[in-house]
Order: sequence, then C-alpha cells, then structure tokens
Amino acid sequence: MGNSDMAASAQKFVYAFGGGSAEGRADMKALLGGKGANLAEMANLGLPVPPGFTISTEVCTAYYANEKNYPEGLDAQMSEALRQVETVAGARFGEASNPLLVSVRSGARASMPGMMDTVLNLGLNDQTVEGLAQRSGDRRFAFDSYRRFISMYSDVVLGVDHADFEDILGGFKDERSYALDTDITAEEWQGLIARYKALVENETGDAFPQDPHEQLWGAISAVFKSWNGARAITYRKLNSIPEDWGTAVNVQAMVFGNMGDTSATGVAFTRNPSTGIKELYGEFLVNAQGEDVVAGIRTPQNITERARIEAASDAPSLEALMPETFAELSRTFDLLERHYRDMQDMEFTIQEGKLWMLQTRIGKRTAKAALRIAVDMAAEGLIGREEAVLRIDPASLDQLLHPTLDPEAKREVIATGLPASPGAASGEIVFDADEAERLKALNRRVILVRIETSPEDIHGMHAAEGILTTRGGMTSHAAVVARGMGKPCVSGAGSLRIDYQAGTLSVMGVLLKKGETITIDGSSGQVMRGEVATIKPELSGDFALLMTWADSFRRMGVRANAETPLDARTAREFGAEGIGLCRTEHMFFDSERIVAVREMIIADKLDARRAALAKLLPMQRNDFIALFEIMAGLPVTIRLLDPPLHEFLPQADHEIEEVAEQMNANPDTLRARIAELKEFNPMLGHRGVRLLISYPEIAEMQARAIFEAATEVARRTGQAPIPEVMVPLVASRAEFDVVKERVLAIASQVAEETGLVIDYSVGTMIELPRAALRAAEIAESADFFSFGTNDLTQTTFGISRDDAARFIGEYTSKGVFKMDPFISLDIEGVGELVRIGTERGRQTKPGLKTGICGEHGGDPASIAFCETVNLDYVSCSPFRVPIARLAAAQASLSKI
Ligand code: ADP
Ligand code: MG
Ligand code: MG
Repeated sequence: MGNSDMAASAQKFVYAFGGGSAEGRADMKALLGGKGANLAEMANLGLPVPPGFTISTEVCTAYYANEKNYPEGLDAQMSEALRQVETVAGARFGEASNPLLVSVRSGARASMPGMMDTVLNLGLNDQTVEGLAQRSGDRRFAFDSYRRFISMYSDVVLGVDHADFEDILGGFKDERSYALDTDITAEEWQGLIARYKALVENETGDAFPQDPHEQLWGAISAVFKSWNGARAITYRKLNSIPEDWGTAVNVQAMVFGNMGDTSATGVAFTRNPSTGIKELYGEFLVNAQGEDVVAGIRTPQNITERARIEAASDAPSLEALMPETFAELSRTFDLLERHYRDMQDMEFTIQEGKLWMLQTRIGKRTAKAALRIAVDMAAEGLIGREEAVLRIDPASLDQLLHPTLDPEAKREVIATGLPASPGAASGEIVFDADEAERLKALNRRVILVRIETSPEDIHGMHAAEGILTTRGGMTSHAAVVARGMGKPCVSGAGSLRIDYQAGTLSVMGVLLKKGETITIDGSSGQVMRGEVATIKPELSGDFALLMTWADSFRRMGVRANAETPLDARTAREFGAEGIGLCRTEHMFFDSERIVAVREMIIADKLDARRAALAKLLPMQRNDFIALFEIMAGLPVTIRLLDPPLHEFLPQADHEIEEVAEQMNANPDTLRARIAELKEFNPMLGHRGVRLLISYPEIAEMQARAIFEAATEVARRTGQAPIPEVMVPLVASRAEFDVVKERVLAIASQVAEETGLVIDYSVGTMIELPRAALRAAEIAESADFFSFGTNDLTQTTFGISRDDAARFIGEYTSKGVFKMDPFISLDIEGVGELVRIGTERGRQTKPGLKTGICGEHGGDPASIAFCETVNLDYVSCSPFRVPIARLAAAQASLSKI
C-alpha cells in the first residue's frame, strides 16, 4: 500500500457487521443508510444476522463528486471486510470448492423505490456452482441459486429484461406441464442456465461475467448508478429527498431459504399494519428466496395459525410447520419492537431450520393503524402520551376523515381479494400507469388495475383513487406502496382475469372494459361493479382518545372557516372551538337573495340602496342565528363584505337580459352599471374596507344582522355567542376607524332597542403588508387581528392568486420556489410580516388576540410557524380541523 493509500484510508468507508457485533449502529442512518444501520443494530443485539459490511453513503457522494471514480482506499477496506465475512461464514469468495456467496443490497437513508434491486447469490459461476452443489449435497438447490443469480444480475446490472428470462422459464414449464419452479430438477436447471447465458451474450454482446470480483464491483456500481436513475430522481423530487444524501451498499453473506422443505423466507410486522392490532402479522414461502414473497409469483402462506384460520387458507402456517423456529421468531420480533419502541417490519430467512434476520425497520402503517399503535403503546408503557401524539403524521388523518362504503348501499361484488389498504374508492378502470396519470390530469377518477405493480407504476398509483391487483399478497409491492400513500388497495384478487391487449377485466361471466366504473373496498377486499355509495367515518375510539391527548398539549386554539350551518356543524364535530372566518359574501350568492343583492348594487340613490338592504337584513339575521346556535358560547368571527361588487353581477349578454327581467330593471341601466363597476385589477380594486367606506350602509346592515341575531340567540338559549366583527383589507388605522365607528353605533342602537347588551369585539384582517408594518397604530383601535394569509401572500409577492397557476408549477419544478406559497406559508417573507404584525400590535395592545385564517391555517408546517410567533389560534376548513389540532399539539410539544 502506497503512502497516499495510507492517508486516504484514514477515512472509514466500510463498516462490518455480523458474528455478534458491528461497527455501525441504528442512529448512523445518514452514513450507513436505513438497512445498513439496522443490520448493524441487530448484530449488536446478538441477533442472528448473516455477516457482511456496509459501504457508506459518503462513498456514493465521493463517487459522484469525482466523475464516478471510487475514493482511494475503498478497495483495501473492502478486501479486509470481505476477509472478515469469510472467516465468520467459513467460506471463501470465489473459491471453487467452498464458495462464499453474497447479496448486494442498496440502502438509502429513507427507503426509496427506484433504487437498484437486490442481487442475490453473487459469487456463483460455472465452477463455484459445483462447489455449492457438493457442499450442500443438493444439486437442485445449487443450480436453482445460479439461475436466480444470472437472471437477477443480468436484469439489474446488465439491463437484460427480466421478462425474457421468465419467457424461457415459462415456455419450459409449459412443455413439461410443471406447475412450480420447485418441480424443476438440477439437470433441467443446467439446461436452462445455458439458455440464460446465451440470452445474455446475445443481448449484451459479452459472456455472462464469471469472475466473482467483477460481479461484485458490477453490482456495487449498479447501486451507485441507480441513485441517479430517472425513477430515483422522480421519487426524490416527490418526497423532497436531497440529492446529496447518497445511498449506501450492503454486501452480505447469503443464507438460503431455497434449501428444501426445512427452509423458507418471509416478511413480518410486529403489529398489523392495516388495523394496528397487536399480533404477529406476516407471510412466508417454503423453499424460496426473498424476492419470491414480494414478487407475488407464488401466493404466500400465513405465519400464524390464527391468521391462517381467519383467511380460511389450507396452506399450513409457519407456526404449524416449524414450531420451534416460529417461537424463536416471535421472541426476536418482541425483542426488536421493545428495543426500537415502535412497530417493526422485518425480513427473515430460515435455512434448514435456522433463523436468520435480514432486515428490520419502522413499519409503514395506515393512519388507523398508526393511531391504534400509538394509543396501545402508550397504554403498554412503551412510550409516553407526548410521544404518542408526536408519532402521528397530522396529514395522514385525512385518510380517516374520508368516506367508507355505505353498508346499506347495494353492491354487486364481482370478486374478493386481500384487504391490502383500507378505504373505499370508485373510478374508471385503467390498466396502465401513464394513462391513469393522463386521465387524472383531466379530473377523471380512476382505479389502476394491474396483474401486479412495480416501481414503474408509482406515478399511476399516485394518480389513481385506488389500486386493484390480481396477484400478490398483503406485502406485495402494490399493498405496501398503497398503504404508504393512504390509498385504498385490493391485492391478489385471483379470480379476476386481466387482458391488457384487449383492455378487459373479466370474471365468471362478467366482462368489464377499460373506462367502466368499479368500486374497491380496501378494508374488506371486495371488488364491485359500478359506483357504490359511501358514508362519513365514525370518529371515535383511538382517534378520539389521541385527539384528547393532543388537545391537552396544545396551546393554540383551533377554529374553522365556515359560513353554512352544515360546515359549522361538521367543524364542531371535528372539535373546532369557534369560527375564525365567516365569509358573508357566500351568503349573498344564494339564489333567493341574489336579486336583492343586485338591486342593492345597481341602486343609484341611497334610498333605493337602503330599501334593497332592508330586504337582505332578515335573511342575514337568520344566517347568523343559525351559526350562533351551533357555536353557542364560542367566538364567531364574521367578516364584513369583502369582494368587489361586480362579482355579483352577470357578465354575458343573455344573462344580463335575464337578470334585468328578474329585477324588473332596464337591461341598459344594468349594462351601464356593470361597465361602471368594471375594474382593471379587481383584486387590488374597490373591495373590502374600501367598499364599506363608500357604502357604509352595507356595513350597517351587516352589523345590525349580527347584533340582532346575537341578542336573539342569547335570549332564546341563554348562551350568548361572542361575535367578532372583522373588517377586511385594511391598510391603515384611519380606514378601520371609519367602519368601526359605524359598527359601534349600530351595536349600541341594538342594545338600546332590545335592552340586552352583548359582548362583542371589532377587529381587522391583516392582509396587506402595510397593515402588518403599521400594526402598532391599528392595534390602538382594533380589538383583534386575523392574518388573512391568502391575500397577504398575494400582496407580499405581488402575485395574483388567480393568475399564479400559469407559472407557479414551473417555479416549484425548477426549484425557484421550494413550495407553492399559497399552500405552505412562506415563512421567510410572509411569515416575517405575520411576526412583525403580531409583535407591533402587541406593543400597543398587550395580549392582543391574533389568529390566522386561509388555506395555511390547516397546513401542519404553517401551523408550526404560527406557534413560534405565539398566535392565539389557527382557523381552517372544517375537514382540516383534526389535522390542525394535532399539528398545533405537536408544535407546542416541539417548542419546549
Ligand atoms: P428491498 O429493499 O427491496 O427489500 P432487500 O435488500 O431487503 O431489498 O432484499 C430483498 C430480499 O432479498 C430480502 O427480503 C431477503 O429475503 C433477500 N436477501 C437479501 N439479502 C440476503 C442474504 N444475504 N441472504 C438471503 N436472502 C437475502
Ligand atoms: Mg428488504
Ligand atoms: Mg382577503
């Protein structure tokens, strides 16, 4: 070794594990990737892990930084690590009589579809396969392993299509009428291997590599190259995973699940990933290697007897087949779950009765399962309530708030598969991922129907409402990915026949074509013809309990944006603590009153306007009575009329005629008024407080409706609501004061008329940068602030929300914007104005109540920001209220 090698090898690139210890640990995921870090952790725990080593993510980064060259010293460190593996395994890499075989496995920090698939049985060639046959005394096994290796390696490293090998194999099995791969003899495999090798030579121009070291470097390079493959890049973009994380590579001694009937391979979860129930849950195959289980080539068997009975399967469970190994497996799973204090998703292999652990990680789960697991683990004392609350992804609650099939609805069940990911969905049948994506873009709802899915289908799965496969188990690709996405999935509906060419899906006398509607229920596994009605979910049990814990940790209040009684009631059911934004103009659009609204707008004299407003008053009063009754005793923020008046008027000629007739008005007068109201830029035009200053009688009518309604409800129910009257689009204190004065005057008039004094306040929206900057002054007069971050984003960026769609997509895809600022609050800019507004407002009015309304009020990242600036509450759409409650609790917990 030269001097430069010595210096370079000071940096550690390779981390060994196995034989009872490891150089890595679970908390070294950044360096070793998730798989490598957890293999090391398991080895340190003394669990049976085949020996191996992890090449760190830094090697990947260095490889790309240095024109795809490996750092100096890597070679030497790898040879050393390989020697250690040989010692522990008792075999030598490349030695003809006693060959060490390895797997080469990619492993990024976060599990990442699109990365290179694992290559198994590496190190086999025409000589070593004989050695393997000799030592194992099982020629069938040796050649089975060799053919697997050739097809896998050729597929993932050399780019020869896996299907070509399957064609050769399938044709051969048909000729002999073999049902299973395991029926094929050693001699027959030898013949097939010759054909496999010929295929490779034909396709690549080179013979299949026989040198094990060449094979090893080929596989390692393929892993690093896959980091920059198109699929991996897309996935990283979709999931905001940085380019510079890099991937690690794991090289690990093989253990064999395909050594006959006392060998097996499987995957398992410590708890049920669909329901969260505490039960060992998983599948396995006898006489098979790992990829057979997930590939869905054979239908896997249940691990436990209980699951087998529940599934009414006649294939024996692992518990019955290998009771001792099953007991060891159970103990190992318990140990891992207690050690990691979370549900584990594990891969294992049994070689001639001996258990080997090949992977463990925190298991993906449905939202329902996540709640159940968090609540149960807190009850078991494994985690505290704070941690239980922190473990639920607020956005995932969305899954639970969505409908399930109406049990009363008629359904025509055409097939039943496995309940792979819960929830119900209806949509048109599509057989192709690209097509699913295309139709989704046209706002069509589709169900992606495939024999099985692969990572190439991810974008189509994203686009689909649900996924249906005819092959594969509960841990098949489709099932795992769908659960991760929170999409309904039925997998392994084996009675269905798909004909991709013809574009049909058929089962016993039923033929469905592409484009026809089906419904799938991922909770029962049912597949139904047509659309089946759905119902709202029940929000009790674990959900309710966890939400009460969340509420106990939460500092900020959560209100809802609502103006209809239906929305208000939904909001209350979801736990809203009042209304943070009632947009009164929505009430004006109602078909019954739009006529009066239009009369008010075209009135050219004050009297006529007042007359029209007088017609609206009782209607508005009733609107508020309904809201106040639902929100009894809670604050209700009512925003006075905001949009420019032309929005209420018809635009097209025939509409103008029609409306004029309805109103008993001259169409030309109407047309003239419309022309008069036309603005170049209505978003920045005559709206909000500006309108109320021009037409104070509108504010007066609305204020009267509010106070009369409040008095009425107070009198009727004894529970007075707390109206908060809100003035929109204020830029200065002077503007605000004009309207406030009117509102106050009406409040005292109503109090005098009714003899009842109502508690109320008058505040403003902060949605213009000037208002945020002059907050100190405005707060002298305003009782509260509500940050209208939709408009504030628009006015801070100078981007009109209505025109943004044309270029925001490009901004985010080119990385100019990290996020669409209308979806997630721009913390640096708009956020700074929120901070300034709050601080300056509270300088003149300590304890000034501040909140946020608009889309951001339901976005977890924006909510976390609101906590840091000490807002009093967030307000969001009713369906997001639970998400906001949880996100606010997490924000409080993370702040300490
Ligand atoms: P993935 O990330 O796609 O799950 P893995 O690297 O975990 O890929 O490998 C897939 C499967 O290959 C594993 O579940 C396991 O069954 C099998 N496998 C990987 N390494 C070995 C090994 N050293 N011995 C036996 N089987 C292995
Ligand atoms: Mg795996
Ligand atoms: Mg606004």
